Amino acid sequence: MKQRARKPAVPRPAQETARRAVIALIRNQTLSARDISTQAHMAEKDVYSHLEHIRLSIRAGGEFLEITPAECRSCGFVFSKRDRLTPPGRCPICRDEFIYEPLFAIRRREDPGRV
Ligand SMILES: [Zn+2]
Repeated sequence: MKQRARKPAVPRPAQETARRAVIALIRNQTLSARDISTQAHMAEKDVYSHLEHIRLSIRAGGEFLEITPAECRSCGFVFSKRDRLTPPGRCPICRDEFIYEPLFAIRRREDPGRV
């Protein structure tokens, strides 16, 4: 039997692979961007850009990106209204720069999750 080596119809960009790695990580656990960057071996800024994309792309599949908001370590202020995924530089209340990073997880919409 004659077989011809076929080239893949659409070469998968490395971006796609990296994005899948991020999705796989936070489907099983709740992680900060720093944790993801360590485990997926990519820069933290790349993690954020993947998360931005994932946040939109998983909606169609009935999932959503659950974000545990950043929190000030000094006064406990929670950055719950913040829409950006990156952590804030400092607390607007006490001006402290020690901020707990936001955490990310992928959840199914009908699954309320356990806190
Ligand atoms: Zn504060």
